[in-house]
Amino acid sequence: MKIATRQYARKQKRWIVSRFLKRRGGNVPPVYAVDGSDKSRWKEEVFVPACEILKHYIEGTESPYQPLPTEESNYEPAYNKCDICNVVTLTVREWQVHIKGRRHRKSVARHKREQLKAEMNDSSKTLK
Ligand SMILES: [Zn+2]
Repeated sequence: MKIATRQYARKQKRWIVSRFLKRRGGNVPPVYAVDGSDKSRWKEEVFVPACEILKHYIEGTESPYQPLPTEESNYEPAYNKCDICNVVTLTVREWQVHIKGRRHRKSVARHKREQLKAEMNDSSKTLK
C-alpha cells in the first residue's frame, strides 16, 4: 500500500513537472510549492499558504510566495554571488544547484561554526 502510494506520488510529481514546468511559452499557470512533509503541520504549512497564494492570484496582488521556476526561467541570466563559498553563478538554475549542493551546505555549516566560535571568543573577552 505504502509503496503504491509513493509510486503514485512520484508519477504525479513527474507529470506536474513536465506539464507545467517544462513547457515553454505562455498559457501555463504559475506553480507554487508548499511543504507537506510534516503531517501535523499540514494546516500551517500547506492549507494556509495555499489559500494565501490563491487569494493573491485571484486578486492580482503581489504575493509573498514565489512560483517555482519554469524550465525557461531556469536559464534566465541572473548574477548571484555566494559570499560563503566565493562562487559566482550566471543563471537562475546554476544558483539553485549551488545553494542546494553539498559543497555549499558544508561551507555554510563551517561558516556558522566559525561565527559561533568568534562570538564565544568575543564574549569571553568582554567578561574578563
Ligand atoms: Zn555557497
